[in-house]
Amino acid sequence: MSCSWLSEALNTLPIKESVRDDILMEAKLDSATEQETPLTSTDILVPVSLNQQENKTLQNWAHIESCKPKRYFEPETVEDIEVIVEQCRSNNWKLRVFGAGHSPNNIAMTNDCIVSLKRMNRIENIDEEQKTVTAQGGTLIKQLNQELAKHNLGLSSLGSISEQTIAGAISTGTHGTGINFSILGASVLELELFTASGKRLLCSETEHPDIFKAALCGLGCLGIILRVKIQCEKAFRLYAVQQPYSLDQVLEHLDDWLRSSEHWRFWWFPHTDRCVVWTAQRTNQSPTAVSSLSRISAWFKERLLGYHSLEAMLYLATFAPFMIPFINRLYFRLLFEEKKEKIDQSDKVFNFDCLFRQYVDEWSIPLRHTVEAMKRLRNLIETSGLYVHFPVEVRFTKADDIWLSPSYERESGWIGIIMYRPYSKDVPFQYYFRQFEQIMQSLDGRPHWAKPHGCNSTQLQKMYPRFSEFKQIRENLDPEHIFSNQYIDRILDG
Ligand SMILES: Cc1cc2nc3c(=O)[nH]c(=O)nc-3n(C[C@H](O)[C@H](O)[C@H](O)COP(=O)(O)OP(=O)(O)OC[C@H]3O[C@@H](n4cnc5c(N)ncnc54)[C@H](O)[C@@H]3O)c2cc1C
Repeated sequence: MSCSWLSEALNTLPIKESVRDDILMEAKLDSATEQETPLTSTDILVPVSLNQQENKTLQNWAHIESCKPKRYFEPETVEDIEVIVEQCRSNNWKLRVFGAGHSPNNIAMTNDCIVSLKRMNRIENIDEEQKTVTAQGGTLIKQLNQELAKHNLGLSSLGSISEQTIAGAISTGTHGTGINFSILGASVLELELFTASGKRLLCSETEHPDIFKAALCGLGCLGIILRVKIQCEKAFRLYAVQQPYSLDQVLEHLDDWLRSSEHWRFWWFPHTDRCVVWTAQRTNQSPTAVSSLSRISAWFKERLLGYHSLEAMLYLATFAPFMIPFINRLYFRLLFEEKKEKIDQSDKVFNFDCLFRQYVDEWSIPLRHTVEAMKRLRNLIETSGLYVHFPVEVRFTKADDIWLSPSYERESGWIGIIMYRPYSKDVPFQYYFRQFEQIMQSLDGRPHWAKPHGCNSTQLQKMYPRFSEFKQIRENLDPEHIFSNQYIDRILDG
């Protein structure tokens, strides 16, 4: 360490020369001792741009899962990533990329090394003619929505939120709803991976097509997704209608209903026979005009009633769970008994307020089993003495050819259940979720990769025809399993 800056600083202070010399001598001794301390391999060549932070604790959105990694990095360039991957390899550390932390389970967690791509979030190219966008892996979907709109483009289908990173959403099979619309990963045309051996691999239908089909739902264990190129469509508005029905009405003609509209889903309110059916269709009509009065009224209903008072009621119900059926009935009557219509830009219609912290579980099943699954779930809730929160959400996706997509080679119904954690208070959910999983498993179900489930690799192997091939690709790309954690070990090797 050079002491010249200290010497200069001391010269500016009104102190005696002998004192100044003593301080300088101390500093020199300290720096000599420092230089004798050998560097460890973990300290070598950590460029400033790696934005390394220590003692960082990361939590997921629901505050259910957390980790305290030894190293946390926010790289800015591919060269930074190269250094980080090399460090992990030489120290035998696991590495997980942490997207926006919205996965309800611990898929993104490790106590070794976490990499966040929040500084690698550039939209690199928008091709208006081909209707494509190329963006870095850390780009948030909401950034894409905003930028694409400026170029008169939009993403064809979205999930309930747009807070996820594009790479995180793709890696777990994130989906919206619409029987003619696939999971988000299916609209990816190209993807660039940084692998454990330090290689950059551009994958597409024509280049490394097997790796491409594996990485489109790669669970974060094939490498770091540096960038993706996505097929978009011309920007569109959606006309959405939300209407109440009975569950039996919906189940009776489910197949006709879900094909009657581009995007279709329903929410069932357990302990009642009531459902809300939501449909959305592309339209050229102008957005719904919203007066100040209706804005205030919507705020009152959606925020005050639908959020704050609901959270308070559910909190009270943690002391008296028998209130839950009453709460479900009450809120259906207050908020969902009326027909609602809305026309707006697509992302504003696809996205919802998902309220407060929650436990969730979601499985996909072959479309033809959806009615049976709902009947069994209703029977479970009616006969088990369970008190469960609303809603049960049912969505649909088209079959695809992504190896680990829960919709792989089959039209799918997705059933999601929820138990809120009002004011972060824990609620019993394990028995409900376990019983739900048994129903879904018995109907050829596949769990959502980002949501808690109890399956191990032996069970998953039976669910996914290309499971072994996926594992082989992983062995080829990452033989030391750097891109792993406890969850990945269980689902791929357990
Ligand atoms: C309120 C809420 C609503 C949701 N709605 C839906 C929905 O409608 N439909 C649905 O299907 N899911 C939904 N989800 C789940 C969510 O879409 C997924 O969990 C998604 O993976 C979260 O993205 P993320 O950026 O937060 O990634 P994270 O949760 O941080 O990470 C997810 C996985 O992606 C990996 N990953 C992230 N970035 C990269 C990268 N650059 N390279 C390689 N791997 C990477 C991580 O390592 C991890 O394995 C919802 C979740 C919440 C909390």
